[in-house]
Amino acid sequence: RALANNEQLPPRGNAPRDDFDNLALEFDAMAGRLRLSAEQREQAHAAVREANAHLESRVTERTLELTESNRKLRNEIENRLHVEALLAEAALTDALTGLLNRRAMMEMLEQAASQLKPGELGLSVILADVDHFKSINDQYGHAAGDRVLAAVGGKLRDICGGQQQVYVARWGGEEFLILMPHVRLASACKHAEHIRREINATRIEDTLNVTISLGVSEIVGGEDPDGCLRRCDQALYKAKDAGRNTVVAAQGTLFATMS
Ligand code: GH3
Ligand code: MG
Ligand code: MG
Repeated sequence: RALANNEQLPPRGNAPRDDFDNLALEFDAMAGRLRLSAEQREQAHAAVREANAHLESRVTERTLELTESNRKLRNEIENRLHVEALLAEAALTDALTGLLNRRAMMEMLEQAASQLKPGELGLSVILADVDHFKSINDQYGHAAGDRVLAAVGGKLRDICGGQQQVYVARWGGEEFLILMPHVRLASACKHAEHIRREINATRIEDTLNVTISLGVSEIVGGEDPDGCLRRCDQALYKAKDAGRNTVVAAQGTLFATMS
């Protein structure tokens, strides 16, 4: 009973020590060893439980840290993508008018021209230039001149926006280039005439009236786009010569005044 209760064995009185005593003492020693190893096991379990709890709290901590750095990383990536998109857009856009810039338009023109088979027609270009723009700057100041350019650019976008696949760019200064894929010269001239009238009828900031002159030309498949641009420029020059607020078409070496 003493063994079962983890107690020391009671002495057996004065009788000489015999095999029962030896056996009892061995049992006693064995019970002691079992008690010790049970205590050690319990201590080991407690240590494992503590280590587990510590590990779990470290894992929770690290998970929170990782979630936070993941969030920061995702934000950083989103910011960078946003900045890249802005830069890419800025590289193709004219800041004053929001239209395509010259570089973007040149690429579109080359791309569209490269789609034409040799001798194929149907890619027209309109070069538009604000008349007497210098005098607007001189009279109202450069900032007012900028607002006029932005207004003319916006108006060109509105007029051309309704048409599929018509691209407008600020070509430089007070010049705008309009690219019309799949449009023959005669249709492009009609469109140019429509633009001329619309701009002529527009009152910028409710007061100012500006006019534009336009040169129109069509690329021949296989031709260097620069050749077509040169014809547009010559046609524009002739429109200025004819008194401005005019459309002139160039076909080969021939020029025709439309308005
Ligand atoms: P024309 O009818 O022959 O085209 O005469 P114009 O006065 O329009 O042409 P000219 O080439 O003599 O002058 C263009 C002026 O446009 C000169 C330049 O200072 C002005 N200009 C060019 N770019 C800008 C700009 O971004 N903002 C402003 N405000 N003016 C500009
Ligand atoms: Mg000019
Ligand atoms: Mg001008």
